[in-house]
Amino acid sequence: MSNYEPILLARIGKPESYKLEGYRADGGYEAFLKALKNSKPNEVVDTIKNSGLRGRGGAGFPTGLKWTFLPKDHPGPIYLCVNADESEPCTFNNRILMELDPHQVLEGVMLACYAIKSSRAYYYIRYEYGLSYRRLQAAIDELYAAGLLGQNIQGSGFNLDIYLHRGAGAYVCGEETGLIESLEGKRAWPRIKPPFPAIEGAFRKPTIVNNVETLACVTQIMRRGIDWFKSIGVAPDPKNPRDAGSYGPKLYCVSGHVNNPGCWELPLGVTSNELIRLAGGVWKGRKVKAVVPGGLSMGFLTANELEVPLDFNGPGKVGCLGLGTAAITVIDDQTSMIDVLHNTCQFYAHESCGQCTPCREGTGWMLKITDRLRKGQGRKEDLDILVEVADRIGIMPGSTICGLADGAGWPVKNAIRKFRQEFEDAIKTGRRSHLRPLAMAH
Ligand code: NAD
Ligand code: SF4
Repeated sequence: MSNYEPILLARIGKPESYKLEGYRADGGYEAFLKALKNSKPNEVVDTIKNSGLRGRGGAGFPTGLKWTFLPKDHPGPIYLCVNADESEPCTFNNRILMELDPHQVLEGVMLACYAIKSSRAYYYIRYEYGLSYRRLQAAIDELYAAGLLGQNIQGSGFNLDIYLHRGAGAYVCGEETGLIESLEGKRAWPRIKPPFPAIEGAFRKPTIVNNVETLACVTQIMRRGIDWFKSIGVAPDPKNPRDAGSYGPKLYCVSGHVNNPGCWELPLGVTSNELIRLAGGVWKGRKVKAVVPGGLSMGFLTANELEVPLDFNGPGKVGCLGLGTAAITVIDDQTSMIDVLHNTCQFYAHESCGQCTPCREGTGWMLKITDRLRKGQGRKEDLDILVEVADRIGIMPGSTICGLADGAGWPVKNAIRKFRQEFEDAIKTGRRSHLRPLAMAH
């Protein structure tokens, strides 16, 4: 990994890397102008599909395939929504791109809109990201002034407007249908799917929702080609015909109990051990107890699982929900897993939108039980009750509208399975945990 040259973050250290002039001097917007001139929209879709790009927002859904779900020959309008409501705990890769290289992302927005025949993009940005918001608005203004946005761009007949929309300050605003409801001016209550947004999304029109880093990858694939993208990362497992592989670079965030938290661009498939080394090791000379592979909902890797490749398949093979946002949180060996789980349950109970009874009540019950555990008042039956509640609230039995409930239940089941002895000992001895909050990035 040591000789990997960053591409998505290549411009980050340059002075005023967020300005149009510097971006164009580095070849920016050449891929967009070339596509306008030489490619048909469906050719851009095919390129992204054949590149194997999978969404970087957390689910890893194939991007080109998602674009093909739009109804054929639709009279329009068709919309693109950029999901920049980056609110997964300890995840800040999108913020870095938006603050320091917004044009790379906007070029991806423009290429995606051209591909899906959309003349309007809504860029939904997390409310708390003030600098990102200002940098993006300035970048969009520069594009209009340069004739790269608006009507009949560079005489091509292609029209495109980009609207920046500030988020509403809740985790569920990042769930794609919650985001759409919020964009429409309503409370961000996720919608029942199907229909998926590709069929009926913003303002009930076909809509593609893509993450910020995904769109930056679109820019680089259109600039450098499919072979470049596929030369990075992990090829599909030949024994698994359903595996789409984990191609391309990824922005890995590292936070929690490390000496130097940060964000690194590396090929998909690095290990937690490699990332912890890059982040200067575990703080205070301690050892790792657990690692959250990519957002709280994914569950935990134990100290024995730090060589698991962090690609779209690796964490799932050891019982995690998936790679998620690839933002790893390191938990040291002095930290109580009861505190970690209580902190996690607190987050989900607070963020549940309350529409579905199993999620609203279940997240509250899990919080109450973990609160009891950390106060040394745990009961023998508590662990089984926690697992049962966590099992029953998820979207898989079809009892909830969105994935938040699944995400809330998974770390509970996973922590109890992997660290059961610690929980049982605490119940047996009535020991209070440290009541020390986990260091989070935000
Ligand atoms: P999902 O698997 O339900 O969907 C992924 C994407 O594929 C969506 O855009 C969906 O519309 C599309 N899709 C799936 N099946 C489809 C079909 N049959 N037809 C048309 N389109 C289809 O996942 P999700 O609920 O969108 O996302 C969950 C992930 O989001 C979690 O892994 C979590 O880590 C992540 N997340 C990320 C953040 C962040 O800050 N980046 C915040 C919260 C959650
Ligand atoms: Fe809201 Fe939870 Fe239902 Fe999602 S699962 S819609 S967050 S109540």
